[in-house]
Amino acid sequence: NEEQIVQSEKLSVVGQLAAGIAHELRNPLTSLKGFLKLIDYKNTNKEVERYIQVMDSEFHRIEQIVDEFLILAKPTKSHFTYERIDQLLDEVIELLCGEANMESIILKKEYFSLRSHVYGESNQLKQVFINLMKNAMEAIPKENVNGEITVEGQEFEDKLIVHIIDNGAGISETELKNLGSPFFTTKKNGTGLGLAICKRIIDQHSGQIDIKSKPKEGTRVSITLPKTPSH
Ligand code: ADP
Ligand code: MG
Repeated sequence: NEEQIVQSEKLSVVGQLAAGIAHELRNPLTSLKGFLKLIDYKNTNKEVERYIQVMDSEFHRIEQIVDEFLILAKPTKSHFTYERIDQLLDEVIELLCGEANMESIILKKEYFSLRSHVYGESNQLKQVFINLMKNAMEAIPKENVNGEITVEGQEFEDKLIVHIIDNGAGISETELKNLGSPFFTTKKNGTGLGLAICKRIIDQHSGQIDIKSKPKEGTRVSITLPKTPSH
């Protein structure tokens, strides 16, 4: 529909800009961070120490945004191979289980029926699942002791679906309309690029992303991927 077209155009403009800007920012940023490390602030006063810590964390934030832009700007269909999707999910969960543990969030693996391959780029697909699982974790309030994320798999003849289901805060109807537009975020420290990146990567894999949510109950994000490459 029309709104989707406008959004995908917005995204491709953002993508082109991102390529240029992110690459240009990387070098001066690395150099600034390097010089900051060289300042021996332990020998200066407390105030200076605090300023430098603030600078360090702000640099970290710029870096994070630049990194996300670089992913957004990545070229397409360059390194596609056949990937076992269950193995890919294992790797992503392995990567995030420490963080989940610390927040007492239970990660449930329910994708053992997935045995087939999809045609894609493993790093990009991992990025999608990392972004989605991070959103799921961030949606679970810190004080919630029953936080749970289930990764479910469903296999069909020509496609497979991975569901990431959380019992977190959920998304209101108005927010749901804005999801996937670059820079839309409801988080204090969010970039609003995570879902835009997911959408772009899944588009490149001829797949589909669907989000269903109920405020206070949770969210289900479903990723559909074809088993055979499209031409
Ligand atoms: P960010 O995480 O930096 O805010 P995203 O593009 O990843 O950017 O997500 C955009 C917004 O979508 C989030 O700020 C949040 O409001 C909403 N959202 C995404 N996933 C979930 C989820 N699983 N539960 C609740 N809200 C979500
Ligand atoms: Mg996110």
